[in-house]
Amino acid sequence: MSFTLSPPLPPSPSEGKEQSPDQPIDESQPMTATCACGQAAITVNALPTMHGVCHCTNCKRRTGSAFGISAYFDKTAITTFTGQTQVYAFHHAAQNHDQERHFCPHCGTTLFWYVSALPEKIGIAGGCFADEALPEPTYAVTDGKREAWVRLPRNWQVFPN
Ligand SMILES: [Zn+2]
Ligand SMILES: [Zn+2]
Repeated sequence: MSFTLSPPLPPSPSEGKEQSPDQPIDESQPMTATCACGQAAITVNALPTMHGVCHCTNCKRRTGSAFGISAYFDKTAITTFTGQTQVYAFHHAAQNHDQERHFCPHCGTTLFWYVSALPEKIGIAGGCFADEALPEPTYAVTDGKREAWVRLPRNWQVFPN
């Protein structure tokens, strides 16, 4: 996420985003994000208030993939956390915020994180919701670093930084 370069924060999914009538989303349905080995898991009982992908170099290296999926929830949506994580805390110079990244000490999966720019939120790695009903992201940031072969859905908001 690029907060200091301040693209307008994307609207929350509940603001004007229509949902498919044949796939009603139950706001209260809990969803669990789990690390690759299953040792650590975090459950939320609401939809993300911000949900996008980031093409920055840091996200590529963190995930080993072409982009990171960041699902931000209000901290109040967290219902349970099981297992344990270790913390990698650093100052993200390019985005000018402090980040506390929680990863599984057994398998290394980054499961969730906190950023100083969003004190009320928890960021959860979208891919860790595999097999859960996490909706489609709505935006992409750091588009300037997007791999040339990645094509984005046309209805997403795209921010260059
Ligand atoms: Zn693990
Ligand atoms: Zn990133």
